Amino acid sequence: MSLTNIPLRTTVIGSYPFPCWLEHAAQHLDDFAQDDIAEMQDDAVVAAIHDQMAAGLDVISDGEQTRLDFNLSFYGFLEGIEMESRSPRAFGPPAHDQRGKHTITSELKAPMGLGSLDEYLRLKRLAPATGPVLKMSVPGPYTLSGRLTPGSMYTDRWAVTEALLPIVRKELESLVEAGCQEICVDEPSMSCYAYREDPLRFVDIFNRTVESVRGKTRICTHLCFGNYKARAVGPRQYAPMFPAFFQMHADEIHVEMASREFSELELIGEIAKYTEVAVGIVDVKSYYIETPLDIAARVRRCLHYVAPDKLSFSTDCGLSQTARWAAKRKLRSLVDGVKIVRAEL
Ligand SMILES: [Zn+2]
Repeated sequence: MSLTNIPLRTTVIGSYPFPCWLEHAAQHLDDFAQDDIAEMQDDAVVAAIHDQMAAGLDVISDGEQTRLDFNLSFYGFLEGIEMESRSPRAFGPPAHDQRGKHTITSELKAPMGLGSLDEYLRLKRLAPATGPVLKMSVPGPYTLSGRLTPGSMYTDRWAVTEALLPIVRKELESLVEAGCQEICVDEPSMSCYAYREDPLRFVDIFNRTVESVRGKTRICTHLCFGNYKARAVGPRQYAPMFPAFFQMHADEIHVEMASREFSELELIGEIAKYTEVAVGIVDVKSYYIETPLDIAARVRRCLHYVAPDKLSFSTDCGLSQTARWAAKRKLRSLVDGVKIVRAEL
């Protein structure tokens, strides 16, 4: 579903850095009562909206500002899991193995949903009534299964994925019912592990997840190679995913290009034969701040392969792992750089 005819649309992946006070508060949540936390969540989303609006983006998100801790994350909404307190490695350089995994103890259920509906309603309430498109990000079932240990309830990660699939699908249906015009079903675990798994199996999971909302909202997916603590996972190549991923029922496929120095950029031309493309042209892992002229040159490179009305531009990944001062400047350059090329069209 295409919602806008803006050529060279500027968009976001979802997450945005927490304000410093929110980081501090997140570590002391017990000091706050329910209404204090609600107030804080509103204030943080207002800050994220402000920064994205100031940059001039065509599509904005709530910056995922309210996913503060376990209880406020998707996992906190799941019944049938026990939070594991320790990650397997406490010290040393930051990496994915420093995140804890939650053990499944009984059948997975989410009777209250996964929380994204409230996030969307908050964003809608706080964002200007006429303005940018409001986008929500929801992790897909395969990615969501990555931090769950099957326990004795499920045989393996695939079985956990199948158990989560209807839960995520219902979440997407609730968002569409509430009027959400654009949803990113994030499956970065698929891009990270496509080299060793059957990519057609991934496509089947994705398509079954989105099938009931297809055509009712703009469905995007974000295929990056991992960004926890700004570290990648798996070989950073799109080749293992294609041609299988051309069959994904997504209206927009996002690829990470900036941090990979635009390797495999020709792939965007192939994707555009099937669906629209969003290209990551801002490196969220580097503290080199792209200038508008850098961005304009990158946009022109993409235009060699894809027509402007099928192209969106964004950062490589969400900005949650990038300092806020840098995130602000990078988003401004993104928009200013794209505007230079838009004026040339
Ligand atoms: Zn990502």
